[in-house]
Amino acid sequence: MRESYDVVVLGGGPGGLLAAIAAGRMGASVLLIERYGFLGGMSTAALVYPWMTFHDIEGHQVIQGIPQEIVDRLQARGASPGHMWDTIGVNSYLTPFDKEAFKDLALEMAQEAGVELLLHSVAAEVRLQGDRISAVETVSPYGRRTVHGKVFVDGTGDCGLVALAGGATVLGRPLDGKVQPMTMMFVVGGADLEPVRQYMMLHPEEFWPASRISQLDKLPLTGISGFYSAWKQYAPSYVPRDHALFFAGMRPGQVLINTTRVINKDPTNVEDVVAAEIEARVQVRDVFDFFRQHIPGFSQSFVAETGPQIGVRESRRLAGLYTLSTDDATTGRRFDDVVARNGYMIDIHDPTGKGLINLELQGGAYDIPYRSLVSKDLSNVLVAGRAISCSIEAFASLRTTPACMAIGQAAGTAAALSARHGVSPGGLDSKDVQTALVAEKAFLR
Ligand SMILES: Cc1cc2nc3c(=O)[nH]c(=O)nc-3n(C[C@H](O)[C@H](O)[C@H](O)COP(=O)(O)OP(=O)(O)OC[C@H]3O[C@@H](n4cnc5c(N)ncnc54)[C@H](O)[C@@H]3O)c2cc1C
Repeated sequence: MRESYDVVVLGGGPGGLLAAIAAGRMGASVLLIERYGFLGGMSTAALVYPWMTFHDIEGHQVIQGIPQEIVDRLQARGASPGHMWDTIGVNSYLTPFDKEAFKDLALEMAQEAGVELLLHSVAAEVRLQGDRISAVETVSPYGRRTVHGKVFVDGTGDCGLVALAGGATVLGRPLDGKVQPMTMMFVVGGADLEPVRQYMMLHPEEFWPASRISQLDKLPLTGISGFYSAWKQYAPSYVPRDHALFFAGMRPGQVLINTTRVINKDPTNVEDVVAAEIEARVQVRDVFDFFRQHIPGFSQSFVAETGPQIGVRESRRLAGLYTLSTDDATTGRRFDDVVARNGYMIDIHDPTGKGLINLELQGGAYDIPYRSLVSKDLSNVLVAGRAISCSIEAFASLRTTPACMAIGQAAGTAAALSARHGVSPGGLDSKDVQTALVAEKAFLR
């Protein structure tokens, strides 16, 4: 390992991973620091599944580039069927993938791009020179390291690096600072979704209104949202949810359940996160009992897997050069400095209640401007992934994995250009970033 890199990326989730790959492909020397022994962030560590969505609600694909290359490469090795109709109907398409194959591919693509890895490591301190980060000090069970860099990319999903450096961030909704609930996803094996499909066709009123139930005789069942009456009558009443949400897995009998929910916890406070992990495991047990006893096709099923950590939907966001507004997202606003696009609706899991607040994107897909990735007070820092500068509602749209990947590609591309030209990220011409992104097949139109 060297002492100094052009680009140092902290966090190897969808944002940080894509940033590292993109910067490496641009010829920068890149170090990717990740707390786990594998990459992928919430997709691998918290079993978040499926990816949704690469498309707008009308079915136009608005995210391409390296994110699509990942899907293509997974598909080529039988680890994703590609984009499939979303049978819940909140999206046109969603994208199933095999988590283990993604872990493998993530490492492979990082190494192909010449990215060096510092796994099992977290940033403990930063060294500042004026308004620049000059170095990050990491800790691991194997000791401490100091890593210098020209440009730093925060891919922690919670502005962890920015916060450590004293940069400006925001947390939660303006009303009370509360964030969306955490969820422990779990994988069930031995389930049979055929009885679920039949039940849906007989009882369409029990499911999310947009569900594609009339097409279930020809479409593979990908997602299920509902079982309202059964949930109301039999579910553990302490779980703050009003319905069951689950997805067909990649393997026969495999189902991913996204139904536990822990509210009123601060994701930046370790005591709260520990309490959430403990509460979520009790919920997994009780929610699974509900499925086994009351959902058709689950009587012979078993809990096959939980992740190394609870899924954290929302944490700190950057205060950047531009804050993407709710209006920008819902009206399909275009920006001259667009570096990614996103077509996923605004999807807020109620921070204190049981329900969902969903807002459609009336203007279709919208642009994500470069300035929202750039710290306003740390001159050599970019954010990759969900923690960019945006309103709480815009966050609830761009937090999903494909958008985080596209933002990551943009952040890494800009970081490499910044290091190459000796210009701060805020001083880069966004046209140069766009030209480099389009050369790597990103979709910006
Ligand atoms: C319960 C739940 C359900 C979701 N459902 C969906 C869905 O159905 N479809 C979808 O597409 N998206 C979904 N999402 C959203 C999506 O998973 C995340 O928003 C996305 O993974 C964010 O990507 P990221 O790279 O910004 O952050 P993360 O995925 O959080 O990755 C951050 C990475 O940084 C590492 N890290 C953090 N801090 C440090 C540190 N200090 N030092 C070193 N490493 C660090 C972490 O270990 C992690 O690998 C869901 C999320 C949750 C929690």
